[in-house]
Amino acid sequence: MIRLKDVSKAYRTGELITPVLENINLSIEQGEFLAIVGPSGSGKSTLLNLIGGLDQADKGHLVVLETELSKLSTKELTIFRSHHFGFIFQSFNLLQSLTVFENISFPLTTLLDERHTKFKVEELLKTIDMFDQKEKYPDQLSGGQKQRVAVARALVVSPKIVFADEPTANLDSKTAQKVLRLMRDMCHHNKTTFIFSTHDPQIMALADRIVTLKDGQIASDERKSL
Ligand code: ADP
Repeated sequence: MIRLKDVSKAYRTGELITPVLENINLSIEQGEFLAIVGPSGSGKSTLLNLIGGLDQADKGHLVVLETELSKLSTKELTIFRSHHFGFIFQSFNLLQSLTVFENISFPLTTLLDERHTKFKVEELLKTIDMFDQKEKYPDQLSGGQKQRVAVARALVVSPKIVFADEPTANLDSKTAQKVLRLMRDMCHHNKTTFIFSTHDPQIMALADRIVTLKDGQIASDERKSL
């Protein structure tokens, strides 16, 4: 589903070049629940952003769903991302002026008519146990509720791959556990691939594969037997 071959990335600030990832080789299959871990600054977010098409590699090949991302134009990449990927961030990134229902339905605006949108969003609202809160605004919700809405919004287009950058960083451990179990159920039921960047031992405990980055390289790649 995802193949990285000799992928490298450096950031340039004026004269200064900071190499972040060097010759990364990695394959990820459909339905994996995978955590990318490593010290702060080791390139976890950068790797997530490259695979998610939010940033570009300097070198190497990155093929996602049989598509070489570097060959897409900016417009094609935007469409590809919106059809196949979901994103979840540590700061939730909900639109404050929209209700819970409107936030979740937002990615469907150009894809489905009103009736199908309502059906799909209400189904997800029940799954995340937020049906009764659908008319509330984000600032009326707890952190855990906000992140459940963000999970629903990421999943509403039935993406093949969900990228979650430190999704539990702003949640207490009990709430984090609830949100994580929701994501793992989605992974098992729909064969959605989840890729996390994280420090959270709870995510590592639930992940079925842990890729550790160190000094720009993959230091270890461990699969747990189920
Ligand atoms: P992690 O997610 O593991 O904490 P990041 O991928 O965020 O690591 O960052 C890796 C390195 O790249 C860090 O040294 C960081 O300072 C640098 N970096 C990240 N983004 C940028 C950027 N946009 N411009 C310059 N340097 C960056």
